Amino acid sequence: IDPVTDSINDPNLKFVEFDEEPNYVRENATFFSLVRNEELYSMLESINYVETRFNRRYHYDWIFANDEEFTENFKSEVSNLVSGNTTFVTIPKEYWSYPDFIDQKKASNARMKMKKKGIIYGGSESYRHMCRFNSGFFYRMDCFKGLKYYWRVEPDIKFSCDLNYDYFKYMRENNLKYGWTMALHEIPETVKGLYEATKEYFRDLHPDYIPSNNHIEFITQDNEDSFNMCHYWSNFEIGDLDFLRSKQYTEYFEYLDRKGGFFYERWGDAPIHTLAVSYLLNKDEIHYFDNTGYYHVPHTQCPRDQETRKELHCICQSSIDFNWGSSDSCLAYYYETKEIERPSNVPIRGY
Ligand code: GDP
Ligand code: MN
Repeated sequence: IDPVTDSINDPNLKFVEFDEEPNYVRENATFFSLVRNEELYSMLESINYVETRFNRRYHYDWIFANDEEFTENFKSEVSNLVSGNTTFVTIPKEYWSYPDFIDQKKASNARMKMKKKGIIYGGSESYRHMCRFNSGFFYRMDCFKGLKYYWRVEPDIKFSCDLNYDYFKYMRENNLKYGWTMALHEIPETVKGLYEATKEYFRDLHPDYIPSNNHIEFITQDNEDSFNMCHYWSNFEIGDLDFLRSKQYTEYFEYLDRKGGFFYERWGDAPIHTLAVSYLLNKDEIHYFDNTGYYHVPHTQCPRDQETRKELHCICQSSIDFNWGSSDSCLAYYYETKEIERPSNVPIRGY
């Protein structure tokens, strides 16, 4: 950001010509960003990528949520860049505060302990409210009423390839309920007790909720003894809001909430969404969106194949591709569990 003009001077940003489709029939869908006022310019960067690579062709709407009120400046700068309609909401207090069954002294001690251990965000109170909000509440806000799909976007992400078809439409036409673009291993210290609580809920209380064609295999490699830490990185996700609104999901969230792990541990919304879709959805309702050129610090996805990079005008280095290139990535294992043949030009890693 140029501090004088407030303008974005990212030399990597390249504008690619899209065919405008002014009369396009959109899906019942929205972009969604939880963001702070201070993150305005990082948010504008993300919006610019989404618009340049995708949305300037479709003009989907965008919901912005914040635990504090958005400033007028934030709203006008953001609205200026989004090609669909924008909605700005202040999160209701009950979605961003301690439930009465939480012992706040105990929570504060837990934060101190995690901070001492050097666990990232271990000492942060707001991070915990954020994870809880993204796990169980965002989709209940009035602004989501009647909508079918959301696509989550964070500040400071990039799409370095063209997203050259309508991902929302793809979700609907293929009966997909959850789409992701990066999967990796969670830090074990942040999810203590989460898998035990998950098994209690699904295996002991609601085995009838688990479809036979589930994808539990993705999250456990020892027959549900333990969680292998694989999770879809929720900073990018496209999801079916009806799934989140379902009794099965919402009661799962409430069961976890009662356990206190959002505050006494540091349970993240990414492993929670992953565990939920693995237990509740059919394997074929979960989809990997490839070739996005997605970046969220510190990982980049980049197509291996030069033809693809060319076709999608990618600005990324395939040699640093995380998805196939890192043993921390769960993509290879996902392919294995879905019994999809992996591309011939990727290195064999990890599993
Ligand atoms: P990380 O990706 O796990 O490192 O976490 P981030 O700091 O990126 O936070 C995840 C998302 O929640 C981002 O979209 C942030 O803008 C947003 N976020 C995190 N904390 C807060 C907060 O206290 N208030 C608001 N309004 N947004 C937050
Ligand atoms: Mn982030």
